[in-house]
Amino acid sequence: MANHANASREEITAALRAGHPVNQIAADLHVDRARVRAIRNELGLPAHVRAIETVTIEDRWREYAKPLPGGHMDWTGERNATSNRPLLSHGYRHHSAAGIAFRIRTGRDPVGQVRADCGMQHCVAPDHVEDAPGRRRNREQLRYISGGRALQERCRNDHDQAEHGRVAADGRAYCNACKRARDARSQARRDAA
Ligand SMILES: [Zn+2]
Ligand SMILES: [Zn+2]
Repeated sequence: MANHANASREEITAALRAGHPVNQIAADLHVDRARVRAIRNELGLPAHVRAIETVTIEDRWREYAKPLPGGHMDWTGERNATSNRPLLSHGYRHHSAAGIAFRIRTGRDPVGQVRADCGMQHCVAPDHVEDAPGRRRNREQLRYISGGRALQERCRNDHDQAEHGRVAADGRAYCNACKRARDARSQARRDAA
């Protein structure tokens, strides 16, 4: 506290330029409010600076999420160098863009890893991402819809349906591993065309 008693002009200037309010600077640095205000006026800084922190993480997310046909969303921001997973840096750390998309839709934090469940890898559409319990719920729903008849444990390409079974919006059950392979093949055909 003693070393703050005569906070340097540089400290006060830095705090003002960072957008902190006069009252907070006076309290943090244990200086007189009038002194902070005088420096602020000398520097010609506005009385109220909108602090960067008032931009929410969801606002930042919307800057980088671009809608695509089919309800998918492409991520135009940062990505993990090895996994290519979409990332958003905010508040000095990296966040999963899919995780933020999940929170935008559900209003709550995800449990476990959030992944796109729509067949498009790294899609960040809020409606297309699921957390671990959500994926499990989808699989349970798949079993329920299959009703009386015995649920196939494996698709015709031998993918485990406890892991890859999905339900489309229209209630149709499908194998997501097969769908991904089909999508990759048609993408390759488009690239070759
Ligand atoms: Zn999608
Ligand atoms: Zn399959």
